[in-house]
This record gives sequence, C-alpha cells and structure tokens, in this order.
Amino acid sequence: HKYVYDFAEGNKDLKDLLGGKGANLAEMTNLGLPVPPGFTITTEACKAYLATGREPEGLAGQIEAHLESLEREMGRRLGDPDDPLLVSVRSGAKFSMPGMMETVLNVGLNDRSVVGLSAQAGGNDRFAWDSYRRLIQMFGKTVCDVPGEEFEQALDDAKRVKGTKNDLDLDADDLRGLVDAYKKIFAKHTGREFPQEPREQLDLAIRAVFESWNAERAVVYRRQERIPADLGTAVNVVAMVFGNLGPDSGTGVAFTRDPASGAQGIYGDYLANAQGEDVVAGIRNTVPLQELERIDRKSYDELLDYMARLEGHYKDLCDIEFTIERGKLWMLQTRVGKRTAAAAFVIAAQLVDEGLIDLDEALHRVNGAQLAQLMFPRFQLDHEFQPVAKGVGASPGAASGKVVFTSARAVELAAEGEAVILVRRETNPDDLNGMIAARGILTSRGGKTSHAAVVARGMGKTCVAGADELDVDVPAKRFTVGGQTVGEGDIVSIDGTTGKVYLGEVPVTPSEVVQYFEGTLDPERTDDALVEAVHRIMTHADARRRLVVRTNADTGADAARARRFGAQGIGLCRTEHMFLGDRRELVERLILARTDDEREAALAALLPLQRDDFVEIFREMDGLPVTVRLIDPPLHEFLPPLEQLAVNVAVAQERGEDVAREEALLAAVRRMHEENPMLGLRGVRLGLVIPGLFAMQVRAITEAAVQVTRDGGSACPEIMVPLVGAVQELETVRTEAEKIIEEVVGDSGVEVLIGTMIEVPRAALTAGQIAEAAQFFSFGTNDLTQMGWGFSRDDVEAAFFWRYLELGIFGISPFESIDREGVGRLVRIAAEEGRAARPGLKLGVCGEHGGDPDSVHFFHEVGLDYVSCSPFRVPVARLEAGRAAI
Ligand code: PEP
Ligand code: MG
Repeated sequence: HKYVYDFAEGNKDLKDLLGGKGANLAEMTNLGLPVPPGFTITTEACKAYLATGREPEGLAGQIEAHLESLEREMGRRLGDPDDPLLVSVRSGAKFSMPGMMETVLNVGLNDRSVVGLSAQAGGNDRFAWDSYRRLIQMFGKTVCDVPGEEFEQALDDAKRVKGTKNDLDLDADDLRGLVDAYKKIFAKHTGREFPQEPREQLDLAIRAVFESWNAERAVVYRRQERIPADLGTAVNVVAMVFGNLGPDSGTGVAFTRDPASGAQGIYGDYLANAQGEDVVAGIRNTVPLQELERIDRKSYDELLDYMARLEGHYKDLCDIEFTIERGKLWMLQTRVGKRTAAAAFVIAAQLVDEGLIDLDEALHRVNGAQLAQLMFPRFQLDHEFQPVAKGVGASPGAASGKVVFTSARAVELAAEGEAVILVRRETNPDDLNGMIAARGILTSRGGKTSHAAVVARGMGKTCVAGADELDVDVPAKRFTVGGQTVGEGDIVSIDGTTGKVYLGEVPVTPSEVVQYFEGTLDPERTDDALVEAVHRIMTHADARRRLVVRTNADTGADAARARRFGAQGIGLCRTEHMFLGDRRELVERLILARTDDEREAALAALLPLQRDDFVEIFREMDGLPVTVRLIDPPLHEFLPPLEQLAVNVAVAQERGEDVAREEALLAAVRRMHEENPMLGLRGVRLGLVIPGLFAMQVRAITEAAVQVTRDGGSACPEIMVPLVGAVQELETVRTEAEKIIEEVVGDSGVEVLIGTMIEVPRAALTAGQIAEAAQFFSFGTNDLTQMGWGFSRDDVEAAFFWRYLELGIFGISPFESIDREGVGRLVRIAAEEGRAARPGLKLGVCGEHGGDPDSVHFFHEVGLDYVSCSPFRVPVARLEAGRAAI
C-alpha cells in the first residue's frame, strides 16, 4: 500500500489523499515553481494510525525511502553534524482548519548538528541556536504536551536578564543558555532527555500530527464547520528554508486579488528577517507586500510572475505563503483563497471578463447564502460597541431604534417617524402591526422558527430571538440585561445575523444590492463592481433555471416588492392576516352567530373587505398566477385569550356593567378550546364545519378576479385548500366552490384553478387519489415537517434542538432545510404519484424551505415546477435555482 508520495507524484485533485496543502504543493512542484522538496504521508496512513494506535505496516520503510531521496536531492543528510538537512513536519487536511492542528519546524537539530547549521549559515551561531531552541519548544509542546507557558516564561526570563523586550537582542550565548533551560523543562515534564536522534524526532513529530486530528479544538472546529470527523490529516515533510537568515531573507503572504472586495491588485504582507510564526505571533509589524519591490526587486518580480501563473492555473483567487532565503524565493503553500461574499461575486465576474471561466462556472462559484448576506444592511462596528446579549440570529440585518414594548406603541411612534425596536418575551399574531411598524424585533424567548422569527423573515425584517439574558417586563415597560435597565424610548441596536444586541445606536450602511433589486440602482450606469457582478450572474441564473420562483405575500405592498425582486407570481397568499385588526370584530360576530341569519350577515360584511384585498393583490401581480389559500388557523386564534376574557368579565361584573358580550365570548373560547390546536379544527376542516366561510372567500377571490379583468387587467387566481388529508375533503370543498365560481365568472373569461396543499403526511401518501380532484399541489413543508417528525414547529427549536444538533441527529434544523430522506421522501412520493394520476399536474412548494438554498436544489431534483418564498428570499431562490440547473 502506498502511504507516501513525493511532491512530484501528486496533484491538486488528490486532496482526499494528500490533504489540501500536500495536493497544492504537488501541483506547484509540477508547475515548475520553486517549492522546497519534500513528501506527503497520506490521510490513509493517518486513518490507519488512529484506528489501531500504531503506524501501519510498511509506513516506516516508505518514509525511509522518501527521506533518502530527499537527502540525495538536497545533498545533505537529516541531522548531519557537519551539514544538516532540516525538515518541517506540517499537518494538512482536506479542508483547511486554520491553526487547529500541529506543525513542528527545524526537525533534525541536535547538540551536534546545531554546530553544522551555524557553519551552513556562514558562521551564524545566533541563528543556529535560535533554531534549536525553537525546535525544543515546538517539539516539547506539540509532541510531548509540555506546557507552552514554561518555555515562554524561560524566554521572558532570558530577556529580563538581558534587560530587553526584543527577542532579537538575545545573542548566541543567551540562546545557548536558553536551550539548556528548555532541555531541563523538557526533561522535567517527560522524564527523558530531548531526543537527539533525528529520525526519532521525525517519527514522533509525524505521530503527533496524526494525533492532532483528534485534539479537542480540532473536533470542536469540525463540528462547527460540518467537516466530517473521519477524513484524517495528511502530513507534509518539507526541507526547511529560512526567512530569518538576515535582512536579505524574510517571509510573507500574498493574495492574487483582494479577498475583501475582490479588487485586482497586489495584496499581502511581508516581514523581513523572520519565520512564518513571527508573522502569526505579531512580534514585529509587517509591511505591505508592495514594499518588497524596494527591498528585493528580483524576488518581487518573480513572486508576481508566480502569482499570475497560479491564478491562471487555478482560475481563481489564490492565497500564497512564501519565504525568501538569502535572496532566493521559495513557495511554501498556495490554495484557492477564502473571500467575502462581495469578493466572491466580483471575482467570478472578473474571471469571466478575463476569459478564464464561463458564466456557468461563475454561477457555480457564488451561492445564495452569500447573496443573502449582501442584501442586509450592516453595522459599522469599528469601535466602542460591545454586545450586551446574544440571542439567535433569527432574521438577518442590522437595525437600531427606540425600544417599545407593545404593538400599539410601535405603531404610534413609527407614525411619528421614529425608528423603533419592538421588544417582547415572544410575539404572537396580535403583534403583527407592531412588527410591521418596527425596524427590528427583539425577543427573549423562542428560536429560529418562533412566531417572531418566521414572520420577521417573511417581512425581511431584522430579528433577534431568544436573547435569554434579557429579562423583559412588558407591563413595567423595561428590560434588564447585565445589571442595566433599558426603558421605553432608550435606543438599542440588534444584529439579526449574529444575534448580538447592543445598547445605543450603532451606525448602519445600507445594501447596494437591494437598491439594485429594488430598481433604484441601474446596473448599466454604476461603477459599483459588486452591483454589476450581481446583475450579470443573476441574469445568467435566470436564463439557466428551470424552476419558476414565486413569492409568499399577503398584501399588495409585499406583492409589488417581490415582483421587483423577480417573483413570477404568488405561491401562497395566507388569508388569515386579513382577518385581524378592525376586522376582528366581524370575525367575532361570525364565531358568536347563533342563527344562520346572524352568520350570513357576518360573512356578508367580510365579503367586500376580502374582495378589496384580492383586487389589490391581483393588480400588483397582473398577468401572473396568484395562489390564494383559504383560511387555515383555528378560529379561536381570532378571539382574546381565555385569561384576559375571564378578567374582563370579572371586572365588568364588579362595576355592574353589561357583560353579555364578554360572557358570550368567554363561553365561545371555552367551547372552542383545544388541547392540540395545530391538529384540531383548522384548514379544510373549518371549511367543512363552518357553513359559508370558504364560500365567502371563494366568492371574494373570484369577484376580485372578474373585477380586475373587466378593468383591463389579467388575474390568474388559484384557490388552494389547506390541510387536506383525504381526497373526499377536497372534493366536498371543490364541489361547492365550483358552483360559486361558475356563477361569478360568467362570460368574463377568468379562469380559476382549484388545488390543494400537501402538508399532511396522509395527503402525500394518497397523492394519486388527491390528484384526481386537484389542479395543482403546493407542498406545505412547514406542516409536513411538523407532522412528519411530530415536532411542534412553535416549540421544539428553542426547547431542545441544540441537543439534536450536538448529537448529530441532524446537522441543521429540518424546519430550515428540507430533510431529504424523510420529509423529502414524502414530497418525492407525492410528486410522482400525483403526476402519474394527472399528467402535467402543477407542483410547487410554499413552506419556508422554498427559499432555502439546499432545499431549492432538492425541489429542482424532484422536478417541481416552482418554489415560493418570502419576498426577500426571491433573489436567493432565483440564484440557487440557476445553480441547480447547471
Ligand atoms: C406550510 O405548512 O408549509 C405552510 C406553507 O403553511 P403555514 O406555514 O401557513 O402552516
Ligand atoms: Mg401549513
């Protein structure tokens, strides 16, 4: 089994086997760039070692053979007393895990070869002894677990004795003394002398790198970054080159473009007379890379040439680590560099212009999460601001404003032109107007799928949920946090991306990308490279995608905005929001009706109001399909809470007032109480139980469509029935609806489709039957997840998902990203059986997953016709639908 590869034997595509660093060192070697010679021990050797606790058979012999050929190439032997070869032993996993694993430099130095190293360096004793003390320090710490502080303490002591703070003031004798001190520390902690045998040093260092894969910080990092735990790390053994041999030596990092903005140019840092760790440790200040032109023109020109070659070869931004040893440039590492979201778009577009990649590849290189980031305003957080609390980043963005504790106060202050932040323990549907009026929402309870989070995301409004350090006292109009009290009118700032909460006003920068989507920034007439890049890549995504993107919108304003963002219709108009506010009284009348006449009167009063809602929406979506869902939530959600009513009745009785109405309401609330309302009288069940309710809505929708069409517009209504589990439910509703539609449509030419949501598992499993009665399906993946897993969507995320994530039962909440194997399977079955029963059946999704990047790819694969998501996620869904199609 081959466990060791010379650099010349590998290439950049062997990252699984050679790790990122090894694969790229091999690639640079084969490109003819000056890489110090060396070899890579594979991740397979690491995995075998970790599985058995022993080096696999044959590894030692292969290392020997590769070391010999390295020695031949360098003309020196490892640790030779007169002219030693020294090597570095560096970790390098498939995915970069910066600073997580181990590196040992200067392997091969001992009491004898230190003298040879000095001679090699032209009699530079100081350099040789400094290198030796570095080896004992690094080796002791990483290979033998000697506490690093003790070495640092000894170094500080040596400097104190010398009366200096600068390492460079220590001379050869000081460093020789330090080596003695280090050896004593080493012996005290390990019970043995520092190993003098070079090959033993090498073997122990390699083993330490293997073991560092399972170091606690590496394990934690992998979990956070979702890097699989079983990949193992490769180990690179590389001939040492020295940047600390004098002023004609040095070390640096370089980027082929600016990783922050994507701008072309020369970016990087250089530090003369130093080794890599000195840069990281920040011992001395680096200079901008451009300065190297003055310091060492030849190396600078050479470096620029290699940077251009690497970029041309990798066709992407590369970052580079290099060292100059006495005027000779060595390339120590390269990789396709990390970058900000803005740089990702700008660089992709630039590479297209340069002919290095095509637009498909550019589309592949950006993603929806990056686009979403670019759409939020950002805090400018340079100085003074420290967070006072941290909750869940529930809906991204940056918002500052005056604290208010009630919806009514939010509306009042907003009407006066104030920016407000609505602070609640948690929100409920009654807070809707306040949420609309507020700049941001802050709650002390709940998680990513709490009411506040879902509604805020829907509105594209900044929200921090579950900031549990906050003690919110709504009646007293104040909250306390970390000993401070914040009252109504005080200013707070919340970051919905990080979940951080600040006191005071943090300045905000608006997003140019949103201005572009809003149409207020013309991509043809701006010199903003980011906007121009986003425009080109979005245009290409639209050309490529097969999925149509619609929006979830309940108001004309939302519909209009979503349309500007590229929505091709409405996939879900939730009608329950139209029953709140002033109309609540009419809903109460409906609920309390004792006779048919009373009920019909209540419905008749609601009808024109509903019709006007739909007229507005159809106008905004002129010519595009609009799916209107019949009312879904249990009706008692429209009544005041039981406790409040009980109190009202008691108070009114006390005062001797007429309490007939309150008593009737109280009785109704008691009568309608349900233990599990989400599994109770809601959705289609309401339509079957409350005469006239659905009929009123169907009539309002159809009359609105006819009116808009008669006015010269074009309305394309699709009526959607929620919570269907059996075809009989749908058939009953449909029969009644068709009669009304036929009567209202007359000769207007309006066409009304009738379809259903698939959000109850039984509906997915009997989709073949249901399709007989449905002209379209729209997957309600929120409820399908809730009922598929049996997870209450309002409770579980905040309650215990952290434990599930920790245990790896899932890597991300199934309410956020579709559970492909389980809930996704229900979608797949329903899509297949639905289409088998009714060829051409229109299929869409309107749950929160419709705007989630990974889920969009899944819906593309399953063959749905469209996804529907909140207005702000429409561009993200367009981009990801394009990416899914290439
Ligand atoms: C769903 O269940 O996925 C859905 C879109 O309906 P709601 O979120 O309104 O229950
Ligand atoms: Mg639902």
